Amino acid sequence: MNTLGDPRGEIAAIARQARDLLGRVRESRWSGFEPPAAAATPRAGAAGPAAPARKSPTTTAKIAVRQHPAPSAPVPAAMTTTPAPAEPLLWNSLEQIALAVSTCTKCPLHATRTKTAPGEGDPRARLMFVGEAPGEEEDRLGRPFVGAAGRLLDQMVGAMGLAREKVFIANILKCRPPGNRDPLEHEIAACLPYLRAQIALIGPEVICTLGRPAAQTLLERKDAIGRLRGRFFAYRGTPLLPTYHPAYLLRTPADKKLAWADLQQIMQRLAQPLPEQQQLNATTNFSV
Ligand code: URA
Ligand code: SF4
Repeated sequence: MNTLGDPRGEIAAIARQARDLLGRVRESRWSGFEPPAAAATPRAGAAGPAAPARKSPTTTAKIAVRQHPAPSAPVPAAMTTTPAPAEPLLWNSLEQIALAVSTCTKCPLHATRTKTAPGEGDPRARLMFVGEAPGEEEDRLGRPFVGAAGRLLDQMVGAMGLAREKVFIANILKCRPPGNRDPLEHEIAACLPYLRAQIALIGPEVICTLGRPAAQTLLERKDAIGRLRGRFFAYRGTPLLPTYHPAYLLRTPADKKLAWADLQQIMQRLAQPLPEQQQLNATTNFSV
């Protein structure tokens, strides 16, 4: 999906950049972290009145509509007065990001990685999960969340009535820290532009961070995960809800019900309520 040289692709890329800018403009207006009412309005789905149609990759015009739900938003003015964000100008597609990551040497983790795990999923996903960093399996296979924690994440996604292929799954770091130690500040700083660009290109309706480092990094807050989880914040205009990391949930199954309550909030925000029976079955173990 290299959009370079393709006028429609370039228009779509500009629309995404405009949305990213719009998010920053909105963000700068808010005193708190709660997204404004407009962001809470579902952009699509059965319960979304007059919501723009999703999944129309053939027309850039519709992409632009989807990316700009607030008709009165001053996008053109913002575009003339605010410098364009660096990330989307550097990479015009997820493939370009993955390619850049595959040869990246911006932090010392490149020396110890086997494979990079840039992220994977639907390039037009409505929901994006952001974890911490690749583990052993992810480093071996070059894919995010494919070990034990990944299997639980798959169950969590399934319990939401979604398929793994329909969401996008990424991490703060694209290379494995030795021994799965916590990411260091300078590693996060070096790697974050890739994730920011992925988010800007995908334009998800909701971001769900998994665990402390992802929440703290994207929200630029130092609060404990127990304080951050379960409520909506905003990341550059996109609703963001932190929840527990599946690896933590494997160690602490009693907290699965809290995580499930978090995921249900996300489904509500996406206007995708679950059938009653599924809610009951998924409450404690995510296997429906
Ligand atoms: N833990 C993460 O945070 N990410 C992965 O991809 C795997 C485990
Ligand atoms: Fe580059 Fe990120 Fe890998 Fe560091 S972790 S080498 S910044 S891709």
